[in-house]
Amino acid sequence: MGTIKAENISFTYPAEEGKKRSLVLDGVSFEIEKGSFTAILGHNGSGKSTLAKHFNCLLIPDTGKMEVFGIDTKDEDRVIDIRKRIGLVFQNPDNQIVANVVEEDVAFGPENLGYPSEEIRKRVDQALKTVGMEKFAIHAPHLLSGGQKQRIAIAGVLAMEPECIVFDEATAMLDPEGRRDTMKIIRYLKKEFGTTIVLITHHMDEAAQADRVIVLDSGKIVMDGAPREVFAQVEKIRSLGLDVPAGTSIIYELERAGVDIPIENLTVEECADAIYNALA
Ligand code: ADP
Repeated sequence: MGTIKAENISFTYPAEEGKKRSLVLDGVSFEIEKGSFTAILGHNGSGKSTLAKHFNCLLIPDTGKMEVFGIDTKDEDRVIDIRKRIGLVFQNPDNQIVANVVEEDVAFGPENLGYPSEEIRKRVDQALKTVGMEKFAIHAPHLLSGGQKQRIAIAGVLAMEPECIVFDEATAMLDPEGRRDTMKIIRYLKKEFGTTIVLITHHMDEAAQADRVIVLDSGKIVMDGAPREVFAQVEKIRSLGLDVPAGTSIIYELERAGVDIPIENLTVEECADAIYNALA
């Protein structure tokens, strides 16, 4: 059974004065397997965040069917069951931090779910350890760096022990080190706990680390496949207002200049090897 299953879902926000209503999601269908790592790409306004809000019942499709853990998101009695099992991490860590002490902030979620205090203590310690912030347990969150705050926000989600975590542009406000740390945590969660990961990102090198890339354009899925298949279509990706990972871009230019070199290389190491072999 898929963790998230969208069947032909469409969605329009309520009309604003003087503005025409337009479809933000337009017949979207896909299934995300348990334990997988999916990146969702698309230029600004393509519908990525709107789609993510459907995953934990913040929005309900106008037409079509959205199932999360086999539960129809329209079923109001089951909203809590879904929200207990799926965590969302957003772009701005400042908007996600609610307490004045790190460990209290991380405890907020499991406290709301009514877990006993020993269980909460265990979860908070574990979550802080997972994100490498155990030394900061009694620090004030607002004094931490952006990357550290985002790690605390992630720990807050981890303390709920979700089966799936959706990162909605969660690295957008971070410096390169903060981004690398977040990606490291994502890989660890998938490997150690089998957490299903959905990553909405503008960074192609992050998307390249996923098992699957889904590209949205005007509320429709226009590409869906393994990163190497998707990014090999350089012109199509660029026509959608996106870019390809840096290594793929270099290989593409070499190929256009007449160097015989396979475009399906993704990581910096693969690209370096491919360029070396082609030029040797
Ligand atoms: P993305 O995450 O890909 O940038 P969004 O899902 O945020 O895209 O937005 C898709 C479209 O929906 C945009 O045209 C945006 O202006 C519109 N939109 C987003 N949120 C709202 C809202 N709360 N009310 C009305 N329109 C919205």
